[in-house]
Amino acid sequence: MELKIEIDSKSGFCYGVVRAIEQAEKFLSSGESLTSLGSIVHNSSELKRLEKRGLKVVDSSGLNNIAGGNVLFRAHGEPPQSYEVAKANSLNVIDCTCPVVLKLQERVRDSYSKIKPEGGTVAIFGKKGHAEVNGLAGQVGGDVVILQSIADIEKLNLMAPLNIFSQTTKDKDHYRELCKEIERRIEAAGGPIDKFKAFNTICGQVSSRLPHLREFAAKHNVIIFVSGAESSNGKVLYDLCKKVNERSYKIESSTEINRDWFNEGESVGICGATSTPSWQLEEVANYLSTL
Ligand code: SF4
Repeated sequence: MELKIEIDSKSGFCYGVVRAIEQAEKFLSSGESLTSLGSIVHNSSELKRLEKRGLKVVDSSGLNNIAGGNVLFRAHGEPPQSYEVAKANSLNVIDCTCPVVLKLQERVRDSYSKIKPEGGTVAIFGKKGHAEVNGLAGQVGGDVVILQSIADIEKLNLMAPLNIFSQTTKDKDHYRELCKEIERRIEAAGGPIDKFKAFNTICGQVSSRLPHLREFAAKHNVIIFVSGAESSNGKVLYDLCKKVNERSYKIESSTEINRDWFNEGESVGICGATSTPSWQLEEVANYLSTL
């Protein structure tokens, strides 16, 4: 079958993931043992590649199960408690927390120290249980309100000061809608609207891909989106592709590709999440060229 194949030039690892993987590979090539607390990247193929090189991975709650040596904290970040446990267990921490996440953790702490004495609340728009959200909440002892959707607004005290931050990989439009709705409800309740602050903390590495991806998805007959099931930004970016191009398919590897998705001579765009390695996009392109 003849297909016109294009790999999206802007897809592939984001800065934070590149940095974490580079540090892991540096360690592995020096022959030292390295254990990642949780998957270093939400992509099973890339994870397998690193495991073959010697990386061990333990469950994100398994810090106490690491016997010794080097432990890698991934780009999502960790709560302060993890650093304390690592120290108590004499583990050497290879801290790969993304600088963007580190900055956000600092902002959550600052905000909390100012707003708490006024009886206010820090809220986080994010997925409950997501590693980054756990790391953010942990900065202030878990004393935050996590909002997963508009329905969660009812958990907030709208009559007191409120600061809200977003998990870095959330959808910009959903965040904007949520903040608008909070604002509307504070006004309706006669609450202190001047004490409501919403901070734009969505990572530019995710949001800047959206306009480009919209164009990319629209110009092809079929879109193959490559991403691990666990990737938050993978979900956001794929949803956008699907909105623009109904014939968008999300896969984890080329074995899931169905020949019936394509017609002779059509153009196929291949793209992925910030946790999808470029080599995997190329592998998918190679596979398509053999159909
Ligand atoms: S998406 Fe942004 S915040 Fe998250 S790891 Fe990548 S660069 Fe860092």
